[in-house]
Amino acid sequence: MKYDVIVVGAGPAGLMAAIAAKEMGARVALIEKGNKPGRKLGISGGGRCNVTNAKPLPELMENIPGNARFLHSALTRFSNQDIMIFFEGLGIRLKEEDRGRVFPVSDKAATVVKAIVDAVYTSGVDVMLDTPVARLLARDGQITGVRLTRGQTVEAQAIVIATGGCSVPKTGSTGDAYPWVQAFGHTIVAPLVLSQ
Ligand SMILES: Cc1cc2nc3c(=O)[nH]c(=O)nc-3n(C[C@H](O)[C@H](O)[C@H](O)COP(=O)(O)OP(=O)(O)OC[C@H]3O[C@@H](n4cnc5c(N)ncnc54)[C@H](O)[C@@H]3O)c2cc1C
Repeated sequence: MKYDVIVVGAGPAGLMAAIAAKEMGARVALIEKGNKPGRKLGISGGGRCNVTNAKPLPELMENIPGNARFLHSALTRFSNQDIMIFFEGLGIRLKEEDRGRVFPVSDKAATVVKAIVDAVYTSGVDVMLDTPVARLLARDGQITGVRLTRGQTVEAQAIVIATGGCSVPKTGSTGDAYPWVQAFGHTIVAPLVLSQ
């Protein structure tokens, strides 16, 4: 089957991108190399998942280290308030703790993972688990799909790369996409390794 959109990686970014593309009417495949979606999300916030911070946007921006302006346009299009509305719309009750930190009332990241994964399946996205992507495919400068490590091709006219960074590689994010996007002329800023 040919898809409109392939999302590679079923972390929170890929899960939300798949839902958004489906809501726009696209035929969507979500391809994940691991055997379950949202593994890193499941360990986030000490297992409680700090879903966002409720402080006003200017205050949030002041507390972003480095180049906060880089995030400005993304946060004005989809803000901390939007993320709370999104999760509450999935039936997750949220609470605000000290310094504006927002958690699920259940105090369990698993609540968040289950709700978002259920939403992906309910929306009709084709989810492929245990399916590592090996590389992107293109013809005449136009994306045509992905090649799986087991050899098959999945076709689509758009790809969302949501393979995460390099932190906690046992959750699946091992920097696979860096060479893929370099091959298309993008520059990779070397990941910052902080010493303990
Ligand atoms: C210990 C810890 C605690 C954290 N706590 C919080 C918190 O409380 N609040 C917060 O907001 N953030 C927190 N974070 C950060 C947050 O978890 C990450 O920002 C988030 O998971 C990134 O989401 P992502 O979808 O971009 O990538 P990931 O969650 O890393 O997901 C990437 C997915 O892509 C898949 N993938 C990779 N390569 C391929 C391939 N070749 N083919 C197919 N699939 C592939 C991976 O298997 C993985 O499932 C925490 C992180 C850690 C490590």
